[in-house]
Amino acid sequence: MRIYADNAATTKVDKRVLEKMMPFFCEMYGNPSSVHSAGQEVKAAIDEARQQVADAIGCESKEIYFTAGGSEADNWAIKGIAKKYASKGKHIISTKIEHHAVLHTLDSLKKDGYEITLLDVDSEGFINLEELENAIRPDTILITIMFANNETGVMEPIAEIGKIAKEHKVLFHTDAVQAVGHVPVNVKEMNIDMLSMSAHKFNAPKGVGALYVRKGIIMPNLIDGGGQEKGRRAGTENTAAIVGMGEAIKIAVENMEEESKKVAYLRDKLLNGLMEKIPECKQNTPKSDKRLPGIANLSLKYIEGESILLMMDIKGICASSGSACTSGSLDPSHVLLALGLDHGTAHGSVRFSLDRFNTEEEVDYILEELPKIAERLREMSPLWNKR
Ligand SMILES: *Cc1c(COP(=O)(O)O)cnc(C)c1O
Repeated sequence: MRIYADNAATTKVDKRVLEKMMPFFCEMYGNPSSVHSAGQEVKAAIDEARQQVADAIGCESKEIYFTAGGSEADNWAIKGIAKKYASKGKHIISTKIEHHAVLHTLDSLKKDGYEITLLDVDSEGFINLEELENAIRPDTILITIMFANNETGVMEPIAEIGKIAKEHKVLFHTDAVQAVGHVPVNVKEMNIDMLSMSAHKFNAPKGVGALYVRKGIIMPNLIDGGGQEKGRRAGTENTAAIVGMGEAIKIAVENMEEESKKVAYLRDKLLNGLMEKIPECKQNTPKSDKRLPGIANLSLKYIEGESILLMMDIKGICASSGSACTSGSLDPSHVLLALGLDHGTAHGSVRFSLDRFNTEEEVDYILEELPKIAERLREMSPLWNKR
């Protein structure tokens, strides 16, 4: 038996999505740039997928650029705007809890003389809007703040940030990789200028994503070459994956209300149950309803998250300690440190991320097993015995 509770790292491909993709390997394999019918039928499928992605976030299809995933979209948006507006200013505002695709991109810009302000967050992970407004300077060219955090599930006040950015005439990009397909997103209502998404976080394949760029903003080319993606990201399209992404986002949006209720019920049962059953835990997922439906993050004090993961894995439970990208390193999660956790508590964190394929039986099993694992590990922990 295996319980997969690591859907913030990646999700399984929905069978309906795979079915929709299959013809694009051996039958509809034409190049969408070709004039013949074998190419044009594939071009039509890509156009449809672009429309499906656009509909899901409330924009026009010509504002969608397909990429090879979320990291690429983040890099393109941030470096693109930095390059384009360098003569206006070199100041960018972001937060301490961004994904590494954003934080490391900003680090690389620092070396080129850009100044980065990383906003603090409160103990639940929310930024302060007044602080944001005060951080804006005449040379600020971009605000990039994530829609929802991949480790704790906290959702930032995106519409309010969009309003502030617009009032100050600063461009606003959001990494919405965890949000798209899971919670309502509308780029027009929320005044979002650029938005990154990734298909493998909503039951489509890995290696495909998109960047929304509001019309009127001319992004510098990411890849020079042919005319694909309006010439801004050249290269023959990953047709099957793009078609899969369109189908997956359509399914996700159609069933969002119902599915997110179901997932949130399981998340609550899991999170509240663990908080109740295991002493000396700290809940890292916010208590406010401004959070993703599927993520439950908590710290089990006096034990190592990595040991918990290994013991859970033996019991068939796949979860994560913070972000998959940081596992293997001994630094505690930058997100949990930003919430104000001490190193020890941050090290004892576990993240469960559920999706619509998880069941109540699975949650009950975790509720059964993790308290036993915690007890065993704490018996062996000198910190626990000395506390
Ligand atoms: C997964 C993730 C990314 C990276 O997306 P890839 O498609 O894996 O490159 C970026 N930001 C957040 C918030 C994510 O969860």
